[in-house]
Amino acid sequence: MASIGVLALQGDFEKHGQAIERLGHTPVPVKNGDDLKGCDRLIMPGGESTAILKLIERLDMRTVLSDFIGSHPVFGTCAGLIMLAREADRLPAPPFAAIDIRVRRNAYGRQIDSFVDTVTIDLDGQERKMEAVFIRAPKIVALGPGVTVLGRHGKDIVLVREKHVMAASFHPELTADGLLHDYFINKL
Ligand code: GLN
Repeated sequence: MASIGVLALQGDFEKHGQAIERLGHTPVPVKNGDDLKGCDRLIMPGGESTAILKLIERLDMRTVLSDFIGSHPVFGTCAGLIMLAREADRLPAPPFAAIDIRVRRNAYGRQIDSFVDTVTIDLDGQERKMEAVFIRAPKIVALGPGVTVLGRHGKDIVLVREKHVMAASFHPELTADGLLHDYFINKL
């Protein structure tokens, strides 16, 4: 049984905890640097990336998070993807640059800023369809050669991995399918 940290400063961290519990592992809410000490892995949840980044600076968590991200498996969802990117627009502090992607925040525009739709996931050479919830989601607009694409929504890339870091532009914690949490905990 692994201890999976979930950054719990702002946003959608509780639902990630439930997804982790359904897979038989222990979620650990991370509200300061010390909370990370016993964690094997970390999820950076959706929410508002500007607010979360400000809290990270205020709580002096940048170095401890940066060290953890450099050495442990990490999964970022939505705002979490933005914070793990190499580059994103209009942030109050730099993102963690753990995945070589450039991201445009709130890229779906006002009319369809939140929607549910089918995405195609390929984690292991086998394509699967799943429902995905997008909430004021970012778009990946450029990616480096070290990045593997694991999921698409039409032409848009919505799930990526680089080494031990993965990121989704949608909210896998809001659907019952535990596929991505299982992949993150057991295969990344
Ligand atoms: N729009 C948010 C941001 O820019 C992300 C939305 C989300 O995490 N659901 O941080």
